Amino acid sequence: IDISIFTLNELLEQIATFIYPRLLEVNVELESDLEKNLYIRGKVEEVRQVIINIIFNAIEVVSEQASGSVIYIKGYQEDDNVILALSNTGPKIPESVIQNIFEPFMTTKKKGTGLGLYISKQIIEKHGGRILCQSDSNLTTFKIILPSIKNPENN
Ligand code: ADP
Ligand code: MG
Repeated sequence: IDISIFTLNELLEQIATFIYPRLLEVNVELESDLEKNLYIRGKVEEVRQVIINIIFNAIEVVSEQASGSVIYIKGYQEDDNVILALSNTGPKIPESVIQNIFEPFMTTKKKGTGLGLYISKQIIEKHGGRILCQSDSNLTTFKIILPSIKNPENN
């Protein structure tokens, strides 16, 4: 059906192309550092949606900043997982927000839905993974952790 094995490398390249016009508009850069062959298994359109949700949230934060409008993306293998860490500069997310950040309708925006991260968490957990948010005084990072596929040709 629509479950397949694919690389985050290829998916991120597609996403970068897709959001490029938006990045230009708001003068934000994506800086990626990915290990090769980050294979995962799942529904590519769902994983794409998660990454786009997180990047769009980050764009909203950094495009309001005077300096350093960069979103950093790191991808690497760790144990049996593939980790994708998406970071943006910005103030520390308050404790009361971060505690509920993956809850439905949690939003701090006038016109936010508060559903993006909730849906993202559902999707990642359905794929056997986890999603975490870490935020300190000047950097916020969302980490997506998914089981890696080591031998794609034998799967
Ligand atoms: P929405 O974008 O509609 O508010 P989300 O579920 O995407 O809903 O995000 C929930 C909330 O999490 C946001 O309203 C914001 O307060 C916080 N948030 C999400 N991403 C970031 C980020 N990169 N930096 C700071 N806060 C964030
Ligand atoms: Mg959002």
